[in-house]
Amino acid sequence: MELEKWLDNTKMGTFERCPREFFLRHILMLTRESEGSVATEFGKAFHHTLELYFSGTDKDEAIQSGVLKLQESINRLIEAGDERVYEDARADIDTFVRAIQYFLTAGAGQELRSIVKNAKCELKLTYTEPESKWSLLGRIDLLAETHAGQHMLVDFKTTSWGLRGWGNKLLTDTQLQTYAFIATKTLVVKEVHAGAYAILHVQRRKLKSGQFSPNITLDSALLPLALTQDHLARAENRFLTVSKSIEHAYESRHFPCVWSQCNRLTGVCQFHPLCERFWRSSLENSEVEHIYEIAFSLGYIQHRWHPFEED
Ligand code: SF4
Repeated sequence: MELEKWLDNTKMGTFERCPREFFLRHILMLTRESEGSVATEFGKAFHHTLELYFSGTDKDEAIQSGVLKLQESINRLIEAGDERVYEDARADIDTFVRAIQYFLTAGAGQELRSIVKNAKCELKLTYTEPESKWSLLGRIDLLAETHAGQHMLVDFKTTSWGLRGWGNKLLTDTQLQTYAFIATKTLVVKEVHAGAYAILHVQRRKLKSGQFSPNITLDSALLPLALTQDHLARAENRFLTVSKSIEHAYESRHFPCVWSQCNRLTGVCQFHPLCERFWRSSLENSEVEHIYEIAFSLGYIQHRWHPFEED
């Protein structure tokens, strides 16, 4: 059981949501999700295409490269016996091509292209706090200058949900603030003035016949957020607070469980089956061995997640 002294926005969010979830995922490194899913592979191919496109590759060439990437991933999922491939229209190459064409010619991609220049894509940045030696990692999809000379960072998202919720998400955003903090601390830029989510919404229904409907619902938006020094200070404070709390929890072996507030109907947490057995556990070493034993019997595997190692 080793404590790795790095965080990113997702890891911090996990600890804030439920310290027990953090313990199971990032200290015991348990998961059920390392095999990937259609949604994840679709998202990776989308990101790959945009990285090429905003780095100057011709649009059709970028899309073709994304298609190859998605096809390889889907083949891998089929070989692994993943039945979800046949249920999810995002595994369909035609859906991918139509969606990304829309995003780049009439959606957020097109809007973005018209307002930014000198884009840098797929930045993997690490800031290490000198005293505590904790590191904060950020994988920034795009950092660019606007034509008015301001710096803007952008996170690309694909979703099968409607866009309305994303506006609300911006109000409580931590991701863009964290990225802006890291970008300025690592001196990639002196200042970041704005962040934005560039979102592609894709939905395609399956018909009773088993075929997918020829109609794809597509939507897209570029949702901007002004970033001030206060936002960056808030991101720094969050990083310092969470890293300190994790160290304290690790030393005292106390990663409290939010089981009583945890709504199993939401299905958001992959650790329900384990928590049912161990929510009272005090996480002594002997109990940890037992958690592993039960976890493996329930189909969990050990897999270390790192944001820079995902393709
Ligand atoms: S199931 Fe609930 S209590 Fe258990 S780790 Fe997940 S969020 Fe926490």
